Amino acid sequence: MKKDQLPSFYRQGFEYDCPHGSRKEYSLFHRPRPLNLNEAMETALEYLLWYVPNINSLQSSKNELIEKALYDEFTFSLILEEMELTEKDAIFLKFIDDDIVEYYREAICTRCQKIILTQADGETKTSSLLRHLRNAIAHGLFNVVDDMLVAFDMRNYNRENGTYICSGIMKLYPTHLLKALSLLESELTHEKLAELAFERNGYEIIDNDRDNPSLPFDFRMKKERRTYAVEIKKFEIEGIISPMEVKDILGHFPGDTDDRKILIVDSAKLDENAKKQLNDEKILLFDQRNIEALLMGEDKIPKIEKAKKK
Ligand SMILES: [Zn+2]
Repeated sequence: MKKDQLPSFYRQGFEYDCPHGSRKEYSLFHRPRPLNLNEAMETALEYLLWYVPNINSLQSSKNELIEKALYDEFTFSLILEEMELTEKDAIFLKFIDDDIVEYYREAICTRCQKIILTQADGETKTSSLLRHLRNAIAHGLFNVVDDMLVAFDMRNYNRENGTYICSGIMKLYPTHLLKALSLLESELTHEKLAELAFERNGYEIIDNDRDNPSLPFDFRMKKERRTYAVEIKKFEIEGIISPMEVKDILGHFPGDTDDRKILIVDSAKLDENAKKQLNDEKILLFDQRNIEALLMGEDKIPKIEKAKKK
C-alpha cells in the first residue's frame, strides 16, 4: 500500500509518517517465541495489560482525570505532550480503513510514534488509547520493532482470508506512555489543571512555583483588583490529616499579605479542628468539585467568600 493512496487527513493535520524516517519490515508473528524483550519493555507490557487505570482488569484502578469527559482535553493533551506527540501523530476516526492497517501491518518507520483510534460512545480519548492498547496486547496483535511497540486492536481476525475489523492502530514507545500516565498522579498535574480552571473564569496566573521556586505556595493569580495565593495539597493517606500537616499547610501562606488565600484539598481529609484552624487564618477551602465547576465556567469564589463573611 502506497502512502499517496491512503485517505488524506491533511485538514486535521495528521500525517502517516515523519519526513525523514525509513520504513522497517516486521511481522506481527512473534519470532522467536516468546519474544526476546528487555526488562523495561517487559514491565511496560505488563503494566499496559493489567495495571494501567481504566482498563478491564481486576488490577486496574479508576482515575478521574482519565475517565471524566470534563478532563478529557486537558488529560489527553498532557499525555501527548509528555510522549512528545503532536497533532501530526494522533487522530480519532469514525472507522479505520483497511488500507491504513495494511500500510502499517508489515513495515513501519520506527522514528515516529502514531496513534489512530476509534472512540466508543462516551469514552475519553485517553481511555480509548488504553483500552485499544490493552486489547491489542491481550490478543497478541502486537510486536516490538526496535524500541517501538506496534499494536492493532482487531476483531474477527480471520487468518485464512485475512479479514478483520480494526478499531485501533498504535505505534509508540510504551515507556513514554507510562511516564505520562504516572504524571496524572502528581501534584504538579493538579496544579496545572487548577490553573487552567481558574483561567477559564478570567483569572490571570501571575506567578507560579515552577518559574519561581521561592514562591512559598503553588501559584498566585489575579482577577480585577484582587490577588490570590493558591496552594494545592494532595494526600495519599486514608483518613484525616494530622495537626502537623495542617501546620505545614499554614506555613505555605505568608502571614503579611494582601493576597486572598485558597487551599485546594480533599475536604474529607480535614477534621473540624483543622477546618477551624484554616478558617481562622481566612483560608478558603476548595475541593475537586469546585474545580469541576470552574472548568464548566462557574466561578464559585465570590460565593464562597460571601458565605465566609457572614
Ligand atoms: Zn517516521
